[in-house]
Amino acid sequence: MKTARRMEAIKPSATIAMNVKAKELKAEGKDVLSFAVGEPDFPTPDNVVEAAKRAMDAGETKYTAASGSNELKAAICEATQRDLGLSYEPANVLVSNGAKHSLMNVAEVIFDEGDEVVMFSPYWVTYPVQAEFVGAKPVVIETSGEDDFQPDLEQVRAAVTDRTVAILLNSPCNPTGAVYAPETIEGIAQIAVENDLTIVSDEIYKHIIYDDAQHVSPAQVSDEARAQTLIVDGVAKTYAMTGWRIGWIVGDAAFIKRAGALQGQATSNPNSIAQAATIEALGGPQESVAEMTAQFELRRNFVMERLAEIPGVTCATPRGAFYAFPNVAEHYGRELAGRKIGGSLDMAEYLLDKALISLVPGEAFGAEDYIRISFATSMEELDEGLKRLKAALA
Ligand code: PMP
Ligand code: GLU
Repeated sequence: MKTARRMEAIKPSATIAMNVKAKELKAEGKDVLSFAVGEPDFPTPDNVVEAAKRAMDAGETKYTAASGSNELKAAICEATQRDLGLSYEPANVLVSNGAKHSLMNVAEVIFDEGDEVVMFSPYWVTYPVQAEFVGAKPVVIETSGEDDFQPDLEQVRAAVTDRTVAILLNSPCNPTGAVYAPETIEGIAQIAVENDLTIVSDEIYKHIIYDDAQHVSPAQVSDEARAQTLIVDGVAKTYAMTGWRIGWIVGDAAFIKRAGALQGQATSNPNSIAQAATIEALGGPQESVAEMTAQFELRRNFVMERLAEIPGVTCATPRGAFYAFPNVAEHYGRELAGRKIGGSLDMAEYLLDKALISLVPGEAFGAEDYIRISFATSMEELDEGLKRLKAALA
C-alpha cells in the first residue's frame, strides 16, 4: 500500500521497542529483567483511582471541550502557580493525550518545512523524529557526561541561524538525569528572547529531583521569556499515571487556540475520566509524589554505587528523572561471548541475549558511547540486574 513520503521520518520508538522485546522474551519463559522503559513501577495513587471511579459513577463519560475540560485547565493553572509561581488563565492551557501528544501538537503548529529547532543530545528519542516528520531540521548540540551533560551557552548562540524557530529543553533530562543549572536556563532564555525564538520546555520530570538540585523553568526567567515559552508537562511520571494519557501545554493563548483547533480535528478531547482523575492528582494530597521521589533517590544512590564498581564504566550522577546514563565506550571493540561489540546497539543486544537485561542503546538518544538504565524498578531487580551487568562486562 502507498504510504506518504513524510513517513520516512518515522521510526519506531527505541524505548518502547526494547520494552516490547523484553516482554516477548519473558513470555517465552526467559528470566529477563527490563530497565528499558521510563515508567514508574508504583501503582497510581489510590485517591486518583477513586476520583476516576467517582467520575464514571457521576456520568462524566461524555465529550468535554476538545482542548480539555475547564475544570482541569483551572487545576493546571493552580498547579503551575503553586509549582512555578506563575499565573496563567485556562485560555493558556491545552490538555492532550499525554505529553508526547502535546509535543507533537507543538511541532505541527510551529514548524514550517526547513525551519530549524535547536536541541541537546543526549535527547529523548522522540524529539528529532517529531521535528523531521513536520519537515523541520533538528540542530543538535552535544553535551557530555564529563560536564554533567550541561549545555554550553556559546554553542547555543552559535547554533542559532535565521532559520531557527525554537529551542527545545528537557530539564530534568531523559536520558541523562541532568538538571540544567539556573544560569544555563537563564542564558538560554536570553538567547531565545534576543532572537525571537519559541522555547519548548519539557518539564515532565520537574517533580522528580534529587539532592539540592533546583528546577528552573525558562518561563520564570523574565516576562519576555515567559511570553515565548511553551511549558509541556503531564501526569505520567509524577503520579505514576503512564497509561492514563494526560499531558498539557501551558503558554501563549494565540498558540493554544491554534493547537486546540488542530486537536479538535485530530483527536477531540483526551479521555474524560482520565481528565477528572488528573484534577485529583494535581489538586489532592501530594505526599505520594514525595514518597515515590524518595524511593527513586534511594535507587539512584544504589545504582551509582554499583556502577562505580564496574571497570570501564563511568556515569554522571543523575540529579533528576529516573535514568542512569553510563558511558560504556571503553568496552567497545571488545569481543564478548564470541561477538564483537562495535557500539551501543551491539552492547544492548549482547546484554539482552547473554545477561538477560534489557536497556536502551545510547544511539537512540544520539549518544553512541552510552546505554540508558531506567531505575524506575524494584531494588531487587536493580540488584540482580547490576550483578548481571558487571558479570557480562568482566
Ligand atoms: N517527555 C519526556 C522527556 C519523556 O520521557 C516522556 C516519557 N514518555 C514524555 C515526554 C511523554 O510522556 P507521556 O507519557 O505523557 O506521553
Ligand atoms: N518516555 C519513556 C521512556 O523514555 C516512555 C517510553 C516512550 O514514551 O518513549 O522510556
